[in-house]
Amino acid sequence: MNKKVVIIGAGPAGMAAAGRLQDLGIDVVLIEKQDKLGGHLNKYYKVFPDFTDASEIINNLQVNLGKTRILTQTTVTKIKGSAPHFTVITSTGEQIEASAILVATGFKHFDASLKEEYGYGIYDNCINAIELDAMLKAGKVTTRTGKSPKKVGIIHCVGSRDEKVNNNYCSRVCCTNAVKIGIEIKEQNPDCDIYCLYMDIRVFGRGYEELYRTSQEDFGVQFIRGRLSEAAEKNDGSLLLRLEDTLTAKPMRLTVDLLVLMVGMEGNSELADVAGLTIGCDRFYATFHPQYANNHSTQTGIFLAGTATGPKAIMESITDGRSAAAEIASFFTKIASKSSINGKYVIPITVSVN
Ligand SMILES: Cc1cc2nc3c(=O)[nH]c(=O)nc-3n(C[C@H](O)[C@H](O)[C@H](O)COP(=O)(O)OP(=O)(O)OC[C@H]3O[C@@H](n4cnc5c(N)ncnc54)[C@H](O)[C@@H]3O)c2cc1C
Repeated sequence: MNKKVVIIGAGPAGMAAAGRLQDLGIDVVLIEKQDKLGGHLNKYYKVFPDFTDASEIINNLQVNLGKTRILTQTTVTKIKGSAPHFTVITSTGEQIEASAILVATGFKHFDASLKEEYGYGIYDNCINAIELDAMLKAGKVTTRTGKSPKKVGIIHCVGSRDEKVNNNYCSRVCCTNAVKIGIEIKEQNPDCDIYCLYMDIRVFGRGYEELYRTSQEDFGVQFIRGRLSEAAEKNDGSLLLRLEDTLTAKPMRLTVDLLVLMVGMEGNSELADVAGLTIGCDRFYATFHPQYANNHSTQTGIFLAGTATGPKAIMESITDGRSAAAEIASFFTKIASKSSINGKYVIPITVSVN
């Protein structure tokens, strides 16, 4: 059997999987629809929890790609056949034979303009977390008129844990990202007051709680358990925030020069029809089993990795990509030995072993 894997999506998960499969001597074709590798990391500056430069992570994953064939500005329009004899047809018309496919197509950022009451896309000084990262990278956190802000409001959970936008899940990274952003703004603008408005603080990973403490003890970032009801623009371009302090159950008003919305993640299910994938109720791809077959899709021979199956931090996405690579290698071993493909994992469709 020709062991070749087509990986769709070259974010951290897809790149990490490609590197591991190369190490295992398995041929990989990595298909990416953008013009460069790295996924959402291309839009970030320094990432939590340790302020590693996002470009360093991309470079590190890229050097492990070895002989991987990389097709950028390409996507997949059709998948024919079944495991282990797939034919993947690309948007450029190429037909690639593959014995397994890994879908690592990541997530989409929540569109903050859907939360109209916050004023994104309406008020000049209401921006999202990615736009703020670009300002931090340029070393210039300013209002639209170029002034250094004296007060910055950071709103957690924008588009997450919110029934109104049909996203009931937690995006898992926004609280720690808000903490990181608060510290970075303070480092660049020490006189600026930072107010984080949160629902609950969810800093779950190694080093995250410590970062949360550091932001308060060493940088004076202030955390208010508050629910923003609306933002309104004043004549000078600053924004009046009307909120409820949910600890005291009292209404509050706060004026800020810059409002940063911590947009969460949404599922990217654009390949659902092409690959015959099942979409979960959270609109990320469903895995075959959430406990013991979390890199398997509901289609035999088509695997899943990274944020394609739900919100994850970078390190988790990389680890998940490598886990998927191990699952694919094990799948090939089982096919080669014509042994119990249905043994350890209950795979719904019998693999044809020729
Ligand atoms: C605002 C924000 C800030 C964050 N900051 C941090 C941080 O500081 N630290 C941290 O640990 N985590 C952070 N994260 C999480 C981090 O972004 C993800 O963990 C990581 O990007 C997931 O990698 P991925 O490979 O699964 O997906 P992605 O990064 O989304 O990459 C997927 C790739 O697939 C490609 N693709 C999509 N569809 C197709 C298709 N049909 N055909 C071909 N290619 C396709 C995309 O172009 C992209 O290159 C943040 C998340 C958000 C929302």
